[in-house]
Amino acid sequence: MLRDLARKHTLVLGFLAVLLPLLVLLGLQLVWLGHLRRTTALAHQAALHTFVESIATDIQYYYRSAAERALDVPAALLTQGRLDRIAHQWKMKPPECAKRLFLVDFTRERFGNFLVFDPATQSLKTPPASDESMAIILAATPWQVLRFKWAGSQPSSLMVDERDPNYRIIVNPILNEASDVVGVAGMILDEEFFRKKLLPSLVHKALPAFFPQASPEYVTVTVKNLRGAPVFKAGGQEAKDVAVSVRIPFVFTDWTMVLSSAGNTPEKLARRSFAFNLTLAALLAVALLGGVLFSLRAASRAITLSEMKSDFVSNVSHELRTPLASIRVFAELLRLGRVQSPDKVREYGEYIEVESRRLTGLINNILDFARIESGRKSYRFAPADPGEVLAAVLKSFEIRLASAGFRLSFQKPVEPLPPAAMDADAVAQALHNLLDNAVKYSGSSREIAVALARRGDMLVISVTDRGIGIAPAEQAKIFERFHRVSAGLVHDVKGSGLGLSIVRHIVEAHQGRVTVESEPGRGSTFSIHLPLKQPIAGRPETAAPGASPSPGASPGAAEETGLPVRPVA
Ligand code: ADP
Repeated sequence: MLRDLARKHTLVLGFLAVLLPLLVLLGLQLVWLGHLRRTTALAHQAALHTFVESIATDIQYYYRSAAERALDVPAALLTQGRLDRIAHQWKMKPPECAKRLFLVDFTRERFGNFLVFDPATQSLKTPPASDESMAIILAATPWQVLRFKWAGSQPSSLMVDERDPNYRIIVNPILNEASDVVGVAGMILDEEFFRKKLLPSLVHKALPAFFPQASPEYVTVTVKNLRGAPVFKAGGQEAKDVAVSVRIPFVFTDWTMVLSSAGNTPEKLARRSFAFNLTLAALLAVALLGGVLFSLRAASRAITLSEMKSDFVSNVSHELRTPLASIRVFAELLRLGRVQSPDKVREYGEYIEVESRRLTGLINNILDFARIESGRKSYRFAPADPGEVLAAVLKSFEIRLASAGFRLSFQKPVEPLPPAAMDADAVAQALHNLLDNAVKYSGSSREIAVALARRGDMLVISVTDRGIGIAPAEQAKIFERFHRVSAGLVHDVKGSGLGLSIVRHIVEAHQGRVTVESEPGRGSTFSIHLPLKQPIAGRPETAAPGASPSPGASPGAAEETGLPVRPVA
């Protein structure tokens, strides 16, 4: 039972066997891609973060080392009053990042002697009262206070005072051996240098190191001041989507470094890569399914063909066996002399003739089919009179038509037809097949009409019956080998399913075509259209159009059949 079901639906099962795992795989891939999408977004975010952090670290490192180098003043110089040496040191190596250097000497004055370095005179001098001086005093104040309160335990590291954003100050305490603050050295930072020199150089150095494959527009680095106004920008267009934002450490701490990438936030990138991968997977699945469907179609065709072939074998065996048995019985009766009346003898003889002609036709079809399939079928073209060919075929059908009570009407051409280059035997076989079908599929009708005509350069032979007809959907298929319409008389009427495929092969070999007009229940007309002038290289030439037909041509054909002939309007 199960095995039967499996055999019947092999193709569906095969398809499901591919489809189900494919769907599972796609589902798993979807889950995995979703996971990957989240991870990718995080990884991107992390990479961008590292990038900004690295620039921030570089800024801090730069200012710390510059301050340590410039502001490292030995306490001895203060205690010995060698301020000129300090001025000399600053003259020789002025730090690029400072716009002013200053010194507060606690060794002489109780509250400190405030001196600024004047690059013009290259000496230290007392500054005039100004905002700058105020900022210096403010920055030095903590040490002034600490000196008195907690002598010996003051912080010894660099300190940054950015209370006045116009005067950002780094101060370094000068300690003596007892760790007492004897002075303070400091620098006021040059904002322009930071914006126009340091930031660009650090950013442009870091960009290719972090994003080697990306174009310069890939990310945008913007530095904004406390009010949010941009003070520096590098890279492409600033995008609305901010990827990372970090406060600058150590100096310029109220400024923020913002990293954005035009349409390329980590989420967007991850989403895009998700969509791309998903599309790729879907395309692959579609291609795979397409391939499977294609193979299944081919397999289904092969199965149908093999079923058709087995039907063919059983049909042909049946078609051969039944008439052969009758022929044997009639032949035996004749041989034994049991049939006395001459009429009966003629009747049995006619039966044997009709049946053996039919069998010959069938065997010819099978042999031809085998030749066509193996590519060995060849045609011998020679000028022949189409009327004569048709007449000979009609003659061979005479007895069969008469005994079955058929009335055959024949419409002859208006003007005599010229001979045409054709393989007369092959064309006769094609006509035989059409007539055979007209008889087989006439149902209760007993009328067949044959017409021979010329239409332009074409010769048209048509066979019309008033039988069961063919549904429009079947009309193209009936010319395929083994195809038999599975409704109507097909179970009662035996056939090989080869007849029309052979007709088509023969007609196409003559560079012609075969057409069918049919209506179910009303009958069919099959027409063979053959070119009168065939350009067949190396073949005997067709006689010139208008040449007189040979004696015994078509006009006489209908009379020769001896059957009731009804001219068709
Ligand atoms: P068969 O040996 O079955 O007649 P053919 O190739 O000659 O094979 O014809 C294929 C099918 O076309 C037939 O089985 C039949 O269903 C249909 N057919 C052919 N000729 C006719 C006709 N004159 N009227 C109705 N059906 C026809």
